[in-house]
Amino acid sequence: MSAALEDLYQQLIIDHSRRPRNFRALEAPDRRLEGFNPLCGDQVTVYVKLEGDRIREAAFQGSGCAISTASASLMTESVRGKSLEEVERLFQAFHALVTGKGAGREVELGKLAAFEGVASYPARVKCATLPWHALRAALAGSGQSVTTE
Ligand code: ZN
Repeated sequence: MSAALEDLYQQLIIDHSRRPRNFRALEAPDRRLEGFNPLCGDQVTVYVKLEGDRIREAAFQGSGCAISTASASLMTESVRGKSLEEVERLFQAFHALVTGKGAGREVELGKLAAFEGVASYPARVKCATLPWHALRAALAGSGQSVTTE
């Protein structure tokens, strides 16, 4: 990746960590689930409204580091309107990207590609994936909370 593009991606993460989008509780959510990353102290609650098998709206609240906040912000933007199957494919591609396995090019990551640099910092992978683990557990309807440990 060129230096300019790398800088742009970092700007995107900084912007979303400072002004997170969809940072609110949804009223009467179909799904709500809390996630914790004890390694870093990140905490996120994910709210989802469904329409059939599609995500109508996703939002989050919580406190955490810049990476986890930006990841939750960009995730809630990215999954809006997507089917549960599409969300799962997006997660798999995102997970591959941040763990340095290379995102499957068959999935369009869009802005989520900004997290490519996380692969160089293994300790931050859980920060980036925490909101996704919470979202997946919420969609699976499994329990009230999830932890990365
Ligand atoms: Zn973190």
